[in-house]
Amino acid sequence: MHTIIKWLTVTGTCFAASSAAAQAIGTAPAQSTPATIHVIHEPPTDPSQQAAYELVQRDTTFARARDVFTLFKLPKPITIRTRGCSGRGGAWYYEGTVTICYGYFQTILDNARSPERPSWVSEEAAIAGPVADVVLHEGAHALFEFLKTPLLGREEDAADMFATFVLLNVFRADAKALISGIAYSYLNDARARNFTDLPTLENRVPPSRAYGGAHSTPLQRLYSVICHASGFDEAAFRELKVSSDLPAWRAGGCEDEYNQIAHAFRTLLVPHIDADRAKAMFPDANLTSAPAP
Ligand SMILES: [Zn+2]
Repeated sequence: MHTIIKWLTVTGTCFAASSAAAQAIGTAPAQSTPATIHVIHEPPTDPSQQAAYELVQRDTTFARARDVFTLFKLPKPITIRTRGCSGRGGAWYYEGTVTICYGYFQTILDNARSPERPSWVSEEAAIAGPVADVVLHEGAHALFEFLKTPLLGREEDAADMFATFVLLNVFRADAKALISGIAYSYLNDARARNFTDLPTLENRVPPSRAYGGAHSTPLQRLYSVICHASGFDEAAFRELKVSSDLPAWRAGGCEDEYNQIAHAFRTLLVPHIDADRAKAMFPDANLTSAPAP
C-alpha cells in the first residue's frame, strides 16, 4: 500500500542492523553493505493496542526480515516502524519507511484467536504468517524503489511474490506454517474463515471499487500464494492446494509460476545481494543460484 504519511517523533526502541551501520543513521551511504535497517516499535498511546505492541516486540519476524534486507546493497537505510494509528490502520511504504499500525496487528490477533479458526492453521501460524508477509511485502517496495527494479506487472503483486519467495527459501523450516497463516489471513480479508465458506461467497460480488485498487483481491492473493508455494514444493503444500480447490487448469502451471518468480528474483535482485553474506547468514536458502532457464 502506498500513502502519504507525516513523520512522527520517534520514542520507540531502535535496533540497527549492525553497530557499524548504526553510525550511518541519517546519512545516505552509497551501496553500503550490510544495508542499514532500522526496526522501531513505538509505544502505543492507546492502551487497547498494548497486546499488539507486545506481539511485535516478541515476534522474531522483524529480526529475521531485517537480516534478509541487510543482504542487499542499498543506497539508503530502510526503516521499519510499528505505531498506533487512528482507526484500525493499515500498512504502507513511503520514502524509505515501512509503517505498520498496531490496529493491523490487532486484526491478525483477533483472527488467530477466533473460535472459528479452522484446525489446519494453528494460532501461532495465523499470527506469524501474516506478520512475516506484511513486513516482507512492505520492505519489497523499498527495494524496488531503491534498486529501480523493472516490473512488468503491478508492483503490489511483485511485492506479494517477493514475500512468498523469501518465506519459501529463507524461512524454509517454517514455510508450511507461515503459508497456512497467510492463506487464513486472505480468507479473513474475503470475509471467510475456511475454504468451505467460499461457496457461500459466490453470489456476493465485491463492489466494483474493489477491482480498481492496486492490489489483487483477497481471493486472488489467496490462490496465488497457494499456487506459488505448491510450485515450490508440491508435496508440502498439496493438502492446502486440494483444500482450497485451486482450479486444476492453474494448478498444473504452478511450478512454472514459481520458477518465473525465482528467475525474476535471481535476475533482478540477486545482483544487488552480497553473495558472501547471504551464504554465511542463510547457507540453505539457495537465494543466489543461477536463474532457471
Ligand atoms: Zn504494497
